[in-house]
Amino acid sequence: MSSHSLRVGIAGLSGRMGQMLVRSVLDAGCRVTGGICRDPGENGLSMNELTREGAITLCADMTQLATMSDVVIDFTHVSTVIPHAEALKDTGTPWILGTTGLSETDQKAVAVAAQSIPVVQAANFSAGVTLVLRLAREMGAALSAERFDAEIVEMHHRQKVDAPSGTALAIGEAVAKGRDVTFADVRTPAREGQCGARKTGEIGFAALRGGQIVGEHTVLFTSATEQIALSHRAFDRRVFADGAVQAAEWSAGKTAGLYNMEDVLGLT
Ligand code: NAD
Repeated sequence: MSSHSLRVGIAGLSGRMGQMLVRSVLDAGCRVTGGICRDPGENGLSMNELTREGAITLCADMTQLATMSDVVIDFTHVSTVIPHAEALKDTGTPWILGTTGLSETDQKAVAVAAQSIPVVQAANFSAGVTLVLRLAREMGAALSAERFDAEIVEMHHRQKVDAPSGTALAIGEAVAKGRDVTFADVRTPAREGQCGARKTGEIGFAALRGGQIVGEHTVLFTSATEQIALSHRAFDRRVFADGAVQAAEWSAGKTAGLYNMEDVLGLT
């Protein structure tokens, strides 16, 4: 299918990412057919602004949106993941999933849907973070847990509802993968009070919130004698929207499966 005729549905249309996605989809020469959201008026949008003077259909639910779209890009809230997975599996529509903060149960629902439809899931759709994840894996493999303590610091805008960010967790998972250990076994809850000394091998997180920061992540590997820091800073959420649209175009014609941005960028 030509990308110029690609019909894209946007879940979370009224959100910060949803509004950015409308611009990215149109700039890529694709169509925004419809959208869903919980509150059309949030972010101070009028109905005319939200629907672009009626050009975008505000749908009642995911099934209606998926039926009129070749692909759905979904940046909403974790509470929608299970119902969206079921609806998209039933309609057979590819799913570009950017929502973060998923539980194990949510992730299982995504994996089940991916047996029937192409799903591109990324905690961060930027090419830069995709490379950071790969480098974090390699650094985890090269810098042993016995010598190097791995810690991840992230900072986001004050409205962000989950912590640590999905990207921070993905970086932690990449380090754990490089070290050939299970992430859940080495992930350390936020430290506070008399939390005791750091244990060898654990991966710690610090989440800072403030202002309108789009997203900053640093993974630090610190030994007794040196420190290596790998950082990424997003200046504009447009970088996530453009990556998600690239994933949407890539997903056309793909077989069912769970894919990530490394697949989209041809890095796998
Ligand atoms: P936002 O709060 O500005 O927008 C959320 C949108 O989801 C709104 O349109 C809201 O109406 C809609 N929504 C919420 N609950 C809903 C429900 N039950 N049913 C239908 N729609 C519902 O948030 P945002 O900053 O746009 O971020 C959205 C999600 O995307 C978050 O999980 C965020 O962490 C994630 N995110 C991911 C990336 C990435 O690259 N993967 C980048 C930025 C944000």
